[in-house]
Amino acid sequence: MRYIYLLLILGLMSFSSCDTSNAQENPKNKKRPEWALVIHGGAGYMSPDKMEASLDKEYRDGLAEALDAGERVLANGGSAEDAVVATIQVMEANPRFNSAVGAVLTMEGKAELDASFMSGNTRNSGAVAGVTNLKSPIAAARLVMDSSKHVMMAGRGAEVYAMSHGLDTVPNSYFITDRRMDQFNRKINDLKPKPDPVKKKYGTVGCAALDKEGNLAAGTSTGGMMFKEYGRVGDAPIIGAGTYADNNTCAVSCTGHGEYFIRNVVAYDVAARMGYLKESLKDAADYIINDKLVQIEASGGLIAIDKEGNVAMPFNSSGMFRGYRKSTGENYVGIYKDE
Ligand code: ASP
Repeated sequence: MRYIYLLLILGLMSFSSCDTSNAQENPKNKKRPEWALVIHGGAGYMSPDKMEASLDKEYRDGLAEALDAGERVLANGGSAEDAVVATIQVMEANPRFNSAVGAVLTMEGKAELDASFMSGNTRNSGAVAGVTNLKSPIAAARLVMDSSKHVMMAGRGAEVYAMSHGLDTVPNSYFITDRRMDQFNRKINDLKPKPDPVKKKYGTVGCAALDKEGNLAAGTSTGGMMFKEYGRVGDAPIIGAGTYADNNTCAVSCTGHGEYFIRNVVAYDVAARMGYLKESLKDAADYIINDKLVQIEASGGLIAIDKEGNVAMPFNSSGMFRGYRKSTGENYVGIYKDE
C-alpha cells in the first residue's frame, strides 16, 4: 500500500513538472494570437518630405483597407489561404500599388503581371507569369495551385487556362493608369540616362497570414519593374524567391529588385535559416535583408509571419508600405524607416 502511495506521489510530481516545462517552452509566455496577417505594398525610395500628405494618407488608407479584408476572413474562422487572396485582391484593385490596376509598364508600354501563392499547410503552390488580361493575377495563381497539375503557368497558356476556369478577363488598358502612362512617356523621352531600377519606387503587393487552425499562407502580385523588357519575369511568381510558406517555419512575401531576389532565393532562405539554424523569424529575415542583400547592393524588403504569429517586416530601402494586424488588437501601418 505504501508502495502504491509512493508511485502515486511520483506520478503527480512528474505530471506537474511536465506542466511547468510546457510553460517554460514558451519563455515569454506570450499567447499566440488566434490569427494574424502582415502585408506589404512595395519597398523603395520614399521620404516623408517628398511625399505629399494626401498621397501619404491614400497609401495608409489603402493598406488599412487591405488589412480589413484579411481580418474579415480570419476573424470569421476563414483560412489563411482565403485571407491572402482577399487581402491581395484589394491591393490589386488599388491604382496606387504596382499590381494589376496601376501596374508599371514594360518597354512596350504594356502591363505584364506576375503572381504566386503558397499554402504552408500542404506546401502546394501556384503561379502565373507575364499575364496581360487576367483581372486578378493572385486568383489565377491560386487557381493554378488548386485546379491544375502544375505549379507555374506563363503568358497565353495561363490566360486561356484561367479563362476556361471562369476567371475574369479585362483589356490590358484596364491596368494602365494615367500616372503609369506619364512615367512611361517620361522614360521614352529620357532614354539617355539609363533607367536605374535600384532607385525606383516599387509597389508590388504581398500578404502572409496565420489562421485559427494554425495554418500559414503567402502570396505576391506585381507588375514587375518599370520599363522592364517585355517577357521579363521577376521574383514575384517564383516560389522560393518571391513567395514561400511552410507551417513548420514561416510564410514570406518579398518586394524589391527581383533579379537579386531570384539569385538569392530570398523567401526560402528565411524559412531555411529558421528550419536548419533554428533562428527566430526576426533574426533570419533581418540577416537576409539588412546584411546579405546589402552586401550585394540589392534593394528591397519582405514581410513574414511564423506559426506563433510573430511578424517581421525588414527592408533596406528608405521605405516600405507595410502593415500588420492580429487578433490581439495589434494594428500597425507604416511607410518610412523610423515609424
Ligand atoms: N520584385 C518585383 C520584381 O522584380 C518588383 C517589386 O517588388 O517592386 O518584379
